[in-house]
Amino acid sequence: MSVPIKREGEGTKTVFTLNTGAKMPGVGLGTWQTNYNQTREAVKVALQSGYRHIDTAYEYGNETEVGDGIKASGVPREEIWVTTKLDNPWHKRVEEGLAASLKNLQLDYVDLFLVHWPSSTNPEDSRKHYDDWDFTDTWAEMQKLLESGKVRNIGVSNFVISNMEKLLNDPRTKVVPAVNQIELHPNMPSHKTIEYMKSKNIHCTGYCCLGSTDSPLAKDKTLLKIAEEVGRTPQQVLLQWALARGTSVIPKSVTSSRIKANFELDNWSLTTKQIKALSSIPNRYKVCGQSWLPVKVFFNEEGDAPDNVPSH
Ligand code: NDP
Repeated sequence: MSVPIKREGEGTKTVFTLNTGAKMPGVGLGTWQTNYNQTREAVKVALQSGYRHIDTAYEYGNETEVGDGIKASGVPREEIWVTTKLDNPWHKRVEEGLAASLKNLQLDYVDLFLVHWPSSTNPEDSRKHYDDWDFTDTWAEMQKLLESGKVRNIGVSNFVISNMEKLLNDPRTKVVPAVNQIELHPNMPSHKTIEYMKSKNIHCTGYCCLGSTDSPLAKDKTLLKIAEEVGRTPQQVLLQWALARGTSVIPKSVTSSRIKANFELDNWSLTTKQIKALSSIPNRYKVCGQSWLPVKVFFNEEGDAPDNVPSH
């Protein structure tokens, strides 16, 4: 049964009700590009600082350390929202992919399991896509996982409108993805995509929500001016902007002070004018490109985005 998606609460108390009725904390910790000790410590510090949502992926190679960090935090499992993702070469082995992630994480279930990319990459050659399989086949398998109790919600990531339409129009699709995790920040606001997903009752989580590592966004004049106006860091402003748009955020940091600062979002907000100004920053750039994938997954559907910028 599908329920309308909605947002409740403010700042770090923001909770998004997904189309499954599950309540997902709006602010999570990202864990891409972190090494062993960093991951364990970052997850522990985040949970002990109040975060209740951790984002990881098989592909990040750090699920074990995420699991170690969860244990080290002392926070009960049932209080934490854990998201992980099915890696591209595992599309024909969805159940095994989930089992591998759960083993790494040392958990019995994940709250959210995402198809990481709409690319069913041949595990024998990462430059090749299967001839006889695509993400609609993968989704048909993902749906079966819900019966196992080992995943509470299923969703996708890096799905543009046309790929989502293809998925939703497939006759085998009975479960609408609960979440689409996509790159979102003022240099890649993807207004049309967010509107489309909303119209289909699909929640969007923004990745690279701070503009990612060495972000040019952090030096943007509009952002710096607003940060000064509200007396907050540019990163806090970016997170507040994203929450105000109805998207969840998963800022990554391995620096304790930043992990804590990124969670100082309570009892202040941005004005409508400031939100609009951030949404209207004209420069476009993309952190996660598609040149490494065997198929094209971005099609410049926003009409303003450099969808082919290679990953760095
Ligand atoms: P973010 O936009 O979260 O930015 C992370 C960078 O910002 C790091 O270099 C971090 O440095 C720095 N940083 C964090 N907080 C602050 C602060 N307060 N002040 C200054 N600098 C700060 O980038 P990510 O690319 O990591 O994206 C977030 C998460 O999204 C990922 O970690 C991952 O979980 C997910 N993701 C998902 C993808 C997908 O395909 N579904 C693709 C990419 C990301 P430091 O760590 O050194 O403190």
